[in-house]
Amino acid sequence: MSFLLACPECGERSAYEFRFGGEVKSRPQPGDSEDAWFQYIYTKTNEAGEQEEWWFHRNGCRKWFQALRDTRTNTVIATWYPE
Ligand SMILES: [Zn+2]
Repeated sequence: MSFLLACPECGERSAYEFRFGGEVKSRPQPGDSEDAWFQYIYTKTNEAGEQEEWWFHRNGCRKWFQALRDTRTNTVIATWYPE
């Protein structure tokens, strides 16, 4: 898994400097079914295509940010800090 990731703070770096934090998923609301929580915690969609993910710049600024990555090509389309 070698590709470039542009940290919003530090710019383009090797993906090896980062820690993958998983997909960005919307958190179920209190009162949602147990099934919704189960899906949220235990399942991964692993879609082929563009996916929003969490990344942590372990060997750099040590900040969490989000990235839009095409899982088919490992191309990172955009990175940003969550609101
Ligand atoms: Zn950084």
